Amino acid sequence: MSNPTGRLIIISAPSGAGKGTVIKKLLELRPELCYSISVTTRKPRAGEIHGESYYFVSHERFQELIKAEAFLEYADFVGEYYGTPKSMIDDCIYYGKDALLEIEVQGAEQIMKKKPDAVSIFIIPPDMKELERRLRARGTESEEQLKARLERAEQELEEKVHYDYVVVNDDITRAAEEILKIIEKGDQ
Ligand code: 5GP
Repeated sequence: MSNPTGRLIIISAPSGAGKGTVIKKLLELRPELCYSISVTTRKPRAGEIHGESYYFVSHERFQELIKAEAFLEYADFVGEYYGTPKSMIDDCIYYGKDALLEIEVQGAEQIMKKKPDAVSIFIIPPDMKELERRLRARGTESEEQLKARLERAEQELEEKVHYDYVVVNDDITRAAEEILKIIEKGDQ
């Protein structure tokens, strides 16, 4: 990568847009991208590993981290807290790597204000029906959580106008390659 300083690449998407699988593909295609591991108060889902998917912490610990100004941004997403540790980003940038931040829209807006050079990408599903289907197929949320996430997804979709790029996840590889082109454009 011909990038001496490293940039922030923000990727947001409503729950169920398939963001996780697109990012997994993206990291396979471009393993040198530095994935920012967030801190959250949400409970781990089956198969999620502490320090890999997220750093899972208590609400008390999260509040302590806020007080210690440990976050570049943080937000409340349907009742749980999520935040990007400053140390994580500093490490990526220090080593000249682009940092990939998979975060929701409130956090993304905080970063866009603080770091205007950040590249922001919004992934959308082909349509709302597909989004609901994907969210249900995952089967990790209760009906109540699912409803909250669907409502939040509708609100979040309206936020796409604030992003530099919108990518439709009609096909995982195609979407990942489109994102890669966006990232590479900035590397030149
Ligand atoms: P999930 O519970 O499905 O893993 O994540 C819920 C939402 O929180 C997703 O939109 C995800 O991108 C977002 N998220 C994950 N980490 C962070 C973070 O560090 N900051 C913010 N603002 N959002 C995050």
